Amino acid sequence: MSKKTVIYIVIFLFVTFSGCINDIDSKSGTLQPRPRNVILFIGDGMGVPHLYAGMTKNGQPFNLEKFPYSGLCKTYSADNYITDSGAGGTAIASGQKTNNGIIGVKPDGTQVSSITEVAHKNGMATGVVSTSTITHATPASFVAHNAGRDNYEEIASDFLKGTIDIFIGGGEDHFRNRKDGLDLTVNLKEQGFDVVYNMEDLKKSQSSRLAGLLAKEHMQKASEGRQGMLSEMTKKAIETLGKNKNGFVLVVEASMIDWGSHENNLDYIVEEVIDMDQAIGTALEFAKQDGKTLVVVTADHETGGLVLTGGDINNRQVEAKFAGKDHSAVMVPVFSFGPWAERFSGIHDNTFFFNEFVRALRLKTE
Ligand code: MG
Ligand code: ZN
Repeated sequence: MSKKTVIYIVIFLFVTFSGCINDIDSKSGTLQPRPRNVILFIGDGMGVPHLYAGMTKNGQPFNLEKFPYSGLCKTYSADNYITDSGAGGTAIASGQKTNNGIIGVKPDGTQVSSITEVAHKNGMATGVVSTSTITHATPASFVAHNAGRDNYEEIASDFLKGTIDIFIGGGEDHFRNRKDGLDLTVNLKEQGFDVVYNMEDLKKSQSSRLAGLLAKEHMQKASEGRQGMLSEMTKKAIETLGKNKNGFVLVVEASMIDWGSHENNLDYIVEEVIDMDQAIGTALEFAKQDGKTLVVVTADHETGGLVLTGGDINNRQVEAKFAGKDHSAVMVPVFSFGPWAERFSGIHDNTFFFNEFVRALRLKTE
């Protein structure tokens, strides 16, 4: 065999077998590396002004500024130009638009599978992390199916279905201080979950299935003692889920950007945005070392109609006005890092995320 023939065979084998982890990009014809893991951040209610206010006040560049790709996302729901977090979360989680107020179910009542459920079926590890109760609309969209987003106790029961390996947030009361008198933590323990109620025990846990119920209802605000915890929760989730050889899908929500915006409270917004960026830094550090992790950051919708009307970049000052106290219809930002990240640039619908994650991770949906 000539040297040339050997080289051709080597190239042929590389192209053939790298197909297991790579994909030929149809446009450029080049090899497209695939991620093994996906980490998705959702800043609830986070528009571009929220981010920029946080960046200005932070005084040093955000971790988010290291992301090489950015884009925009349309957020309208099936029944409203302005989405709520139920329909917004469901679209991101499942690639299906639904009506406001609903999670994980189409308007006609049909259940839709979320990316974490599909990933679980494909042998991947899955997790959700949130600063609100873990049963709240955004995290619940990845785990539960309910025509009413406020049915927290029913939603908590869906965490027993086995599709989620790790969940960390608030919401202890929805699991064991319930109207029906049930204590779902008993069932969780039977399923091999380590159930913990504080940060210290969370960090110590060695279990591959982990329920961190760190508050009875929602967690505290960042400014009231929670600062840095979302980053720690994210770190623990990554460490634990990362042990699965088939990879993982982790969803991290910064819930309270939305609440600060409903209150038209710029300081509250800024503190929550800065806290989210710290958690993003933790994920980014892992993704850089790992090399096989796609990190995507987006929002479910904008809240408050926030406009930055003035400020001073050198003195870290921002002046702002709000158009209202509710959600708005504007497109929200998308940032991406890692293998497959370039696909998220441009303008997409919020149903895009699910479909693109399925493609990137080569998941079987049936
Ligand atoms: Mg939320
Ligand atoms: Zn809201």
